[in-house]
Amino acid sequence: MFHVSRRDLVVGAAGAFAAFGLDKPLAFIGAAQAQTTPAGPAFKKYQVGDIEVFSLYDGVWEKPHDENFIKQANVEQTKAELKAGGLTDAFVPIPFTVLAVKTGGRLVLIDSGTGSGQTGGPKAGLFLQSMAAAGLDPKDVKTIVISHFHFDHILGLMAKETNAQMFPEAEIIVPAAELKWWTQPVESIPAPRQANAKRVQATLQTWKNVKPVDGEADVAPGVRQIPTHGHTQGHSSHVISSGGKQFIASGDVTNIYGLFAKHPDWQAAFDHVPDMAVETRKKLFDRAIADKAMVAGYHWGLPNVGTLAKDGNGYAFVAA
Ligand SMILES: [Zn+2]
Repeated sequence: MFHVSRRDLVVGAAGAFAAFGLDKPLAFIGAAQAQTTPAGPAFKKYQVGDIEVFSLYDGVWEKPHDENFIKQANVEQTKAELKAGGLTDAFVPIPFTVLAVKTGGRLVLIDSGTGSGQTGGPKAGLFLQSMAAAGLDPKDVKTIVISHFHFDHILGLMAKETNAQMFPEAEIIVPAAELKWWTQPVESIPAPRQANAKRVQATLQTWKNVKPVDGEADVAPGVRQIPTHGHTQGHSSHVISSGGKQFIASGDVTNIYGLFAKHPDWQAAFDHVPDMAVETRKKLFDRAIADKAMVAGYHWGLPNVGTLAKDGNGYAFVAA
């Protein structure tokens, strides 16, 4: 057992990189910071000035390998990086983690989870149990802000068979550009995304409690929507600020960090506008480093909150 803080490991790796003239970053950063996927409901709590932020675990999709997943890497390379990051290489583990924010006397959710496992496979759907474990009551949710409309982020808003609202009393704030893209005529949407579009059009498009918000704007006390387009045409992130502290809920600016923060140029099949997604990723992460902000990712497991550091051509995640 060696007693080195996580931060020292990153600094140590950067130092070794310089000292030994290595031509690429050392892999042990990833292994030391392996993404974890709890076996059952789980949560973690963070403080941002006066604001409390809860990470609520919603399970994991064990995605089978597929040659078309990453444009710049084949399955063998993907497996090698998963192993280097301390993860299984039997499949790609893609966890889901919803955030709840206690701010200005109200409870705000950032995204809504897989809808009790309506998507994400048999190990997804723990969100409501994790919420209960954290002592939070869904009835207290007054505002829900949504990063984008992929199923793993919005199905928690609606019942499986009926599409009935799960949070009818809450205001649902969505990026205007996202609503616009998914509500264009279904024929103009690429075929693999049409089922997603139809569900959006049957629900969010018609619900009276949905409020589209354009561009950058405050959406709750201390919570600001910022456009981070690329993953989808309207994808947005949320900056939580209080007492001089900053916390960036990055949403899907990257998928799992062991692959896509380490290799920010890698493009996942989930990205709608891949080149813009890469540009956005680097811009947001550079901002997070410059601002010394805490960063959360929706697909980063638990803990899914920490800081980022430059690591060669990529970024290393250091859990808080
Ligand atoms: Zn997602």
